[in-house]
Amino acid sequence: MKKVIYMFTSLILLGACTQGKQAGSEPVDDGIDATFEYKVDRFADIEILRYPVPGFNSLSLQQKELIYYLSQAALEGRDILWDQHNRYNLTIRRVCEGVYENYMGDKSSEEWKQFETYLKQIWMANGIHHHYSEDKIMPQFSQDYFVKLVKSVDPGRMPFRDGMAADETLQEILPVMFDPAVMPKRMNQTPGTDIVQTSAVNFYEGVTQQEVEAFYNAMKDPADETPVSYGLNSKVKKIEGKVAEQVWKLDGMYDKAIERIIGWLEKAAAVAENDHQKEVINLLIDYYRSGDLKTFDDYSVKWVTDTTSRVDFINGFIETYTDPLGLKGSWEAMVNFKSIEASERTRVISENAQWFEDHSPIDDRFKKEEVKGVSAKVITAAILGGDCYPATPIGINLPNSDWIRRDHGSKSVTIDNITYAYDKAAEGNGFKEEFMWSDTERERSKKYGTLTGNLHTDLHECLGHGSGKLLPGVSSDVLQAYGSPLEETRADLFALYYLADPKLVELGLLPDNEAYKAEYYSYIMNGAMTQLTRIQPGKDIEQAHMRNRALISRWVIEKGSDEKVVELTQRDGKTYVVVNDYEKLRALFGELLAEVQRIKSEGDFEAGKQLVESYGVKVDPELHKEVLARYEALNIAPYKGFVNPVYKLVTDENGKVTDVTISYDENYVDQQLRYSRQYSVLPLKN
Ligand code: ZN
Repeated sequence: MKKVIYMFTSLILLGACTQGKQAGSEPVDDGIDATFEYKVDRFADIEILRYPVPGFNSLSLQQKELIYYLSQAALEGRDILWDQHNRYNLTIRRVCEGVYENYMGDKSSEEWKQFETYLKQIWMANGIHHHYSEDKIMPQFSQDYFVKLVKSVDPGRMPFRDGMAADETLQEILPVMFDPAVMPKRMNQTPGTDIVQTSAVNFYEGVTQQEVEAFYNAMKDPADETPVSYGLNSKVKKIEGKVAEQVWKLDGMYDKAIERIIGWLEKAAAVAENDHQKEVINLLIDYYRSGDLKTFDDYSVKWVTDTTSRVDFINGFIETYTDPLGLKGSWEAMVNFKSIEASERTRVISENAQWFEDHSPIDDRFKKEEVKGVSAKVITAAILGGDCYPATPIGINLPNSDWIRRDHGSKSVTIDNITYAYDKAAEGNGFKEEFMWSDTERERSKKYGTLTGNLHTDLHECLGHGSGKLLPGVSSDVLQAYGSPLEETRADLFALYYLADPKLVELGLLPDNEAYKAEYYSYIMNGAMTQLTRIQPGKDIEQAHMRNRALISRWVIEKGSDEKVVELTQRDGKTYVVVNDYEKLRALFGELLAEVQRIKSEGDFEAGKQLVESYGVKVDPELHKEVLARYEALNIAPYKGFVNPVYKLVTDENGKVTDVTISYDENYVDQQLRYSRQYSVLPLKN
């Protein structure tokens, strides 16, 4: 639940918002110099970037080899995610790729260019629905043109399933691709509809929301203090007329891909840095073999308590954002290693975790008497896979299981080299000049923005998600679809509240009592205005992090309106955020934090729904139009994705590994096509 996503996008995707979240410390060494090309590709609403991996060459051979095997395991699950997003995704992708690689006709026409853009878009989204808005991506070329393309290619070169002919395959995928009424949304959250049946994800088939809810409610034991994450690793469908699960495991659904993931994990276990880490990897292998969610919990506990290894990874069914019911884990992976110097910042925060909990403006009944194991570090991403690729978070806090967090703590990371790449790519794009009120805000942003942006992420991840507690008997999923945005709201408010606390200056985390204003301003500007650049005209806000940022920003604007604490002001026909009283703004953040914590701790569904629906969902159409026009004039892509570096094993004549090299020269199209050749073993439909 707990990814900081997309920068400029949410921080980074899960992170950042267009506020531009902010750069990490300067990467050094490893030949990453001024000639490093951060910008790779640009199409539709997407810009593809490249991230450097500073420090990789200084790792030990064993660590590099470990990263290599884990990175292979991270890439092998790509098709699982595609299939999870929609059951026609793999067919559509492979047909499009078959055309792309084999079509011999005119490639200079406008329609061909639109076809190429469509393929790039679905690569970015891991499927035919937009990675962020969840809306189906509508092709800008005609259905007739597509049929012509498909039929012009030698069928022997096309990936038609089970000997199906072009016609049969087309019959199946054409409506899915071209009819706006068919599977329009990957995840539908509209209240009052059957969100299971109206969502295009492949987590459920032929079952109603009511049937799924009844199925899982029957499994739950309210007295169980350490429940497994029911439904995390399975698809639900009817088997012989009865609701049942198809489990994602070896010899189960996604068998072929999982078999290969296991193969790489076995190699990784053999070069683990220490016994604890080896056990982590072996438990993950056991879980992939059995599909047993208890084993997944054992693995998660082992994983969260491994705080000494330099190399770390995520690999599996983790985040539940894409399931309308919040149960099913999307497959994701990331391999990383600790950035030692930058981790000093989060170490200081973690060491003082109890102080922050004790001084939080929430009701004492909801405070943790003892904040456990908030482990935080700054990491360098080495490979992105599954739901972390091409769009990636800039911060992650796991595991998601509430009882594991309660009893064993959580691990929180800030991904420095990704934020750094975002910032490098954003230099000089004119964004701040256009949207900030005056030079005062711009100068503060320049002086403090990077630091306070990073600190916000650190506080959100290291402390925000881990703070507070549920009252006895309150179930963690009682807030349903509102749970995710409210949880992000809570973590953001915790961070915002403390950014302005003199304690941060005292701890040496901020240079003075002015700095926090940079982040306060950017945050409200993003939440109330500039994040609207990522929403199409006429649409609501859907994504959990965007809902949370809108919620906070609009709430403080409304509640502070009598005293004009913070307001939207017009100048020359343009709207700006103006903050008149930063101290009162902090008090408002504290007030809202207390309320959101109460909602979570008491499980107050109605109040939570009210907050999200009132402040987090609807868009002012006039403001939206204005922001889109101003943003469009800057020609900045609202979403960013990444290509990965390429790792190669170097071996001697006996086959012994002597080095692992890293290179940065693969472009977006080549990488996607290579992944589709190299890591694609699932059947077309699962
Ligand atoms: Zn979060």
